[in-house]
Amino acid sequence: MALIVHKYGGTSMGSTERIKNVAKRVAKWHDAGHQIVVVPSAMSGETNRIIGLAKEISAQPDPRELDMIASTGEQVSVGLLAIALQAIGKQAVSYAGWQVAIKTDSAHTKARIASIDETKVKADLDAGKIVIITGFQGVDELGNITTLGRGGSDTSAVAVAAALKAQECLIYTDVDGVYTTDPRVVSDARRLKTVTFEEMLEMASLGSKVLQIRSVEFAGNYRMPTRVLSSLTDPLIPLEEEANSGTLISFEEDTHMEQATITGIAFNRDEAKITVLGVPDRPGIAYQILGPVADANIEVDMIIQNQSVEGKTDFTFTVPRGEYTKAMDVLETSVKAHIGAGSIVGDSKVSKVSVVGVGMRSHVGIASQMFRTLSEEGINIQMISTSEIKISVLIDEKYMELAVRALHKAFGLESA
Ligand code: ADP
Ligand code: ASP
Ligand code: MG
Repeated sequence: MALIVHKYGGTSMGSTERIKNVAKRVAKWHDAGHQIVVVPSAMSGETNRIIGLAKEISAQPDPRELDMIASTGEQVSVGLLAIALQAIGKQAVSYAGWQVAIKTDSAHTKARIASIDETKVKADLDAGKIVIITGFQGVDELGNITTLGRGGSDTSAVAVAAALKAQECLIYTDVDGVYTTDPRVVSDARRLKTVTFEEMLEMASLGSKVLQIRSVEFAGNYRMPTRVLSSLTDPLIPLEEEANSGTLISFEEDTHMEQATITGIAFNRDEAKITVLGVPDRPGIAYQILGPVADANIEVDMIIQNQSVEGKTDFTFTVPRGEYTKAMDVLETSVKAHIGAGSIVGDSKVSKVSVVGVGMRSHVGIASQMFRTLSEEGINIQMISTSEIKISVLIDEKYMELAVRALHKAFGLESA
């Protein structure tokens, strides 16, 4: 008997038919003698729909109230799944985040989990119940409902698995694993049987939305075996077959020694680039530009400062596209005059494409192959950033899919 956490995403919970299939699958695992905790997302489209209602009323809704609204989709899902399990003869109980409790900080719409009380859940499991806990939501010190950022149910699931010391966390989704790139963009992308934790962390942080980045961080910090697999197979396929399907995140350093240098291509469409022109080149300038941006809780990603000419330089950085207008406002009002900059220009139609692979550490020439491939396609590179296991470029969003396909081919990642 093992304690296993299942997470089901929006598509997997997308209709009452699909919810009944989830119930059958969960019941199969429970019948095999396992203790099961399920963490579902809202039904697909629901979170967008309810956030959309708030935005019809106000362009910048109060984040506390937005969380109150956004969290409701998951509450419907847990109740429906409990009813579906009960309808097939299983004992099941659902909980909202605050009932468990899943405590978070107070950063509404992007809260971080601080602690999870496992007492009630353990008691239910020991009493033979299947426990269903809302993904995506928690509660802060003051009792306010919080949410964990879009895609946050992945994080809820891995955090619950870690708190319960589960044997494995199974992330059921609408693809049958982690691929060399998004299979919706490259049809011959190849499924990976395993991916190292480090690579998955890079891929998630660079935009591969198959797992939310914080879920990968939790998996790494607690060494929680985590597997991504399909919820769209026949729910009654043999359990052994299902348990070994999909992609396992591995913690073995040497898993990839015999494998390709590049593991995958990640991309992020939601980027924006801002340039502060004619900045005096003196100590403290980066801080004076980026300090107010950070104070506005805006994350900065790529940064370049050019060589100065006659004491003046240009300073360029990227921010998430959703924060572009806010970042431009901060720079115009709190930075420009203060540092004596010339002007501020921006482009919110840029995308980031990255090649990722632990094999890069021991191979040279990856960057030049990447740049050659892009040049052969006539794609202009606007910014570059690198780490030990990834190279990212910022390009015009028009060419993003072309770049991903060309790089996928150039690095030989397609399925045989
Ligand atoms: P869920 O609702 O189950 O959480 P998501 O839509 O958040 O599902 O994540 C699954 C989607 O992630 C897939 O449908 C796929 O389009 C996308 N995706 C992006 N990159 C990858 C990748 N490298 N491998 C697999 N899927 C990917
Ligand atoms: N329902 C939330 C969202 O759409 C959380 C999730 O699906 O993981 O972002
Ligand atoms: Mg998701």
